[in-house]
This record gives sequence, structure tokens and C-alpha cells, in this order.
Amino acid sequence: MKYDVVVIGGRVGGSTTSLFASKHGLDVLMIEKRQEIGTPVQCAGATTCNTFQTLDMKPSNKYICTEIYGGTICSPDGNRAKLRGKKVEGYILERKAFDKHLAIESARAGTDIMVKTMVTDLVRKDGKVCGVVAKHMGKTMEIEADLVIAADGVESQIAPLAGLNTQKRPQDIGSCAQYEMVGMDVDPNYVEFYFGANTAPGGYLWVFPKGEGLANVGVGVRNSPYPAYHYLQKFTSQLPATPVELNVGGVPLSGVVEKTFTDGFLLVGDAAGQVEPLSGGGIHTTVECAKIAGEVAAEALEKNDTSTRFLKNYEKQCRAKVGNNIKNSLKYRRIMDKLVDEDFNEITKFLEGHDLESISKLSMMGLIKGHPNLLGLLKKIL
Ligand SMILES: Cc1cc2nc3c(=O)[nH]c(=O)nc-3n(C[C@H](O)[C@H](O)[C@H](O)COP(=O)(O)OP(=O)(O)OC[C@H]3O[C@@H](n4cnc5c(N)ncnc54)[C@H](O)[C@@H]3O)c2cc1C
Repeated sequence: MKYDVVVIGGRVGGSTTSLFASKHGLDVLMIEKRQEIGTPVQCAGATTCNTFQTLDMKPSNKYICTEIYGGTICSPDGNRAKLRGKKVEGYILERKAFDKHLAIESARAGTDIMVKTMVTDLVRKDGKVCGVVAKHMGKTMEIEADLVIAADGVESQIAPLAGLNTQKRPQDIGSCAQYEMVGMDVDPNYVEFYFGANTAPGGYLWVFPKGEGLANVGVGVRNSPYPAYHYLQKFTSQLPATPVELNVGGVPLSGVVEKTFTDGFLLVGDAAGQVEPLSGGGIHTTVECAKIAGEVAAEALEKNDTSTRFLKNYEKQCRAKVGNNIKNSLKYRRIMDKLVDEDFNEITKFLEGHDLESISKLSMMGLIKGHPNLLGLLKKIL
């Protein structure tokens, strides 16, 4: 078997890469180890409107649960600041349906897909990656490719096989647990974030509405005395709601890995650390980088050059698109690491009475001048 491109992993990173590579006329095989693309879910499903602009797709109610207009910040002392918006700022996706939809679209564009097939090794010739070894229902096969693109998630086993260093320290991984719950009394168009040392140390707790009383309720923590599930149980046991699904997973929160390309090989999505470290949001950034991977793959094949020298264009373009976002987000995450409960109380108090528009209109200096306590807080943390 021989393909132009083999893509490893079939969720948002893999399917988007395959979609764009196929749209550019490449012969693509996407390999997913699970028997169903999109499961088990390891995501709360919030994404920006940009995701759909990048994908060049109209958001569809096949996979969109709700439109999001703003968010509510909930402080440790129980105060709430609702930041109201006037337009759609983003969506809550049903990730299972969204990922499968992306895979279906890439198949329609020409991608061949193998499910329940695990890539176990890379094939190399003269140091260059030139294929994969895959196992399907007990049968091992070798598949040749001019280019291999791995989008195999935060625990990527493939990147080290290609000689890329993706090792992370435990404190650079957000550990998450989430219930999908029924019977939630929440505004269907507003996300909620809860902060505090007893609620979500090193992270936050989220309530993302899915409509009709459904919501994803989850917690992401770092460096915490207990696992995420402990905080999830503590919060949800007080709710008059019941879970129908439990998801657990890790999210890389240390920024993009050292290098995302080598001879005949690219790395995409969580595997490459293409996630905003403050929010843990990786759908929009992964989609941006996966689209670039598909386009660079097409150019590389056209020029018959899949060398490191050419493929470095992938990393360069990703850096230009999402590099600053990710870098700034890491800076803010480090600032947030220094906040204590009193700071979250203060920030929430400050945000009360503002809406999204007024906050985005005010310059940082305007915000600080108008709030002496905030100036003190910034002096302390910066
Ligand atoms: C609990 C939680 C909540 C989150 N919430 C949000 C959110 O609300 N918004 C947001 O933007 N981001 C969120 N994220 C992050 C987001 O889910 C990820 O950034 C995004 O899914 C990354 O996609 P990916 O395709 O790179 O990796 P993944 O989604 O991890 O997909 C990797 C795929 O590769 C497959 N695979 C792995 N190894 C192999 C192999 N050897 N052979 C074949 N297949 C293989 C896996 O089965 C999997 O399907 C959340 C993460 C977690 C853990």
C-alpha cells in the first residue's frame, strides 16, 4: 500500500489535516486506533467562531448544541460577574458529532480511513520517515507514504519515534474530569467559570451549557493535592442534576513543543502542544495548524520535497498564525498561577457591571486607572 500522506489520529487534528490535504488532490490515508471516530470524548466542546472560518464551513446544528454570547465568572466568595455579549462569540459543540462530521467531510474529499487500526511504528529509509507500521484486527501491515503526519494527541507515542521531543513535566499537563449532566439550571447561551483553591487549584471549573438542561460540567487542575475527579465530585454532588457521561483526559499547557517537523514527518494538534495554555482550548488552534499541515503537505508533494528544509515552512506558518496567541496565553497562565482566592474575588468584583463590549473597548490602561485595587493586584503579580 502506498499513499502520498498517512495521517495518524482521526479527531479534530487528523481529520482537518486529511480534509485539506485531500482537497488539494493528495492521496491520503487517515488511521484511527478507536473503532469510532470522536469517542471517547475528551473535551468540553467550546470553540470560537474562527474555527468555522478556518474550516471554511458553515456551523451546522448537526453538531452545535448552543451559541455562546458571553460568560459568567464565579469567585471563591460566591460572587458572580456576568459578562454579557450582543453577538455570537462561540459555540458549544457535540464533539462526538463534530469530529465524525470532519472525518466524513475528509472522506468525501477523498481521504481513505482505517478505524480500529493502531500505528505501532514508523518506517524510515536513510533517516527519513517514509511510512508506518499499523495493526488492524491482529494483522500487521506496512504502509508507505511520502509524508507522515501525526495528530495522535497529548500522549503522542509517534512523535518520539520520529525523534521529536514532546516530553512534558507533570505541571505542564492539565488534568481534567468532566460529567455531561442532565437537569442543569443554566443559561443556555452563557458559559460559567469557577475559580479558587478549593474548587480547581491551578485551573478552573467549567459549566458549558448544551441546551435543554444539559451541560458539560468539568474541572481542570494542575499541581493539585487531589485528582480532578475529586473536585468534580465535590461540585456536582451539590447539584440537583445527574450525569450521563464521564470523560477524563489531559491537556498540554506549556505551549508548542520544541520542534514539530522532521524529514518526511509533521506533528499536529495536542501532540505538538498547539493549545492555548490559559484556557486549555485547543480546537481552534489545532484546526489552524492542521489546515496549514494539509496545505504544506500539498506543496511539498508538488515540489517533491519532504525534507526538513522544506517542512520547516509548516512550523513557520503555524507560528505566524497562532504563535503569539499561544505565547501570550502561556504568559497569562503563569500570571494566573500566582493568584490566590482573594485576587479572584477582587477581579470578579471588578468585572461585575461590565459587559464584553465595554471591556474590549477599554484599553488596559483605562481599566487599571479606573480601578485602584486592580492596579495593586497587577503590581503584585507582574
Ligand atoms: C476534558 C477536556 C476538555 C477540553 N475542552 C476543550 C474545549 O472546551 N475547547 C477546546 O478548544 N479545547 C478543549 N480541550 C482540548 C481539545 O480537546 C484538544 O486540544 C483537541 O481535541 C486536540 O485534538 P487532536 O486531534 O490534536 O488530538 P485528540 O483529540 O487527542 O485526538 C488524537 C486521536 O489520535 C488517536 N490515536 C492516538 N494514537 C494513535 C495511534 N498510535 N494510531 C492511531 N490513532 C491514534 C486517538 O485515538 C485520537 O482519536 C479539552 C481537553 C480536555 C482533556
